[in-house]
Amino acid sequence: MFYRLFILGMFFSCNLHSSSQKVVAAAYKNKTIKRPVIVLDAGHGGRDEGAKIRYPYLEEKKLTLLATLFTKKYLEQFGYKVVLTRGKDYFVPLQKRADVANEAKAELFISIHFNSCPNKIAHGIEVYYHNSLENKAKSKSSQNLANCVLSDVIKRTNAKSRGVRKAKFCVIRETKMPAILIEAGFITNPQERDNIRKPAYLEKISLGIAQGIESFIKRYS
Ligand SMILES: [Zn+2]
Repeated sequence: MFYRLFILGMFFSCNLHSSSQKVVAAAYKNKTIKRPVIVLDAGHGGRDEGAKIRYPYLEEKKLTLLATLFTKKYLEQFGYKVVLTRGKDYFVPLQKRADVANEAKAELFISIHFNSCPNKIAHGIEVYYHNSLENKAKSKSSQNLANCVLSDVIKRTNAKSRGVRKAKFCVIRETKMPAILIEAGFITNPQERDNIRKPAYLEKISLGIAQGIESFIKRYS
């Protein structure tokens, strides 16, 4: 079902300038087509600033929000319905973020973060999923989603891949749908930080995430 609905979404995304867009858009408007819901989770927020550096001054919570808003833009262009756990700079508890996705009955959940390390040499992008023993289907789908997203983000950014990894972070553990958390680069590495500070680079990360989601849907739905 999801796959069939999504074919229409792909059709929509590949024909943005054709008259068919109007037909599909009208169908969305009339609610004859249910768009897949993707929940995007901008890491941190409000009093939780996330990773921080002084010179140049950078807060992870602002970078995650910007990257999330860019990702939302691309996913909506591709025909998805996007729900955010936060669209502004405020604090949201971790469990609440998972609750938002579960209540929205989202198809997929993506949490966006940036990394830091006392060793300034550390750089690159890694994607986490939860290897749940109780829900093996979710674990496998999350792992596949992580591989697709990492591959497309690396293609867009040319950043170093640090691979797909397992973790028990609350947001990817408590969500019921396939869920991943991307650490999209180190703000403590001078070269990577110079990239991350540029909105154009964040757009590349975001486009990679959106395309990775499409790759996952095409391959596994
Ligand atoms: Zn973080």
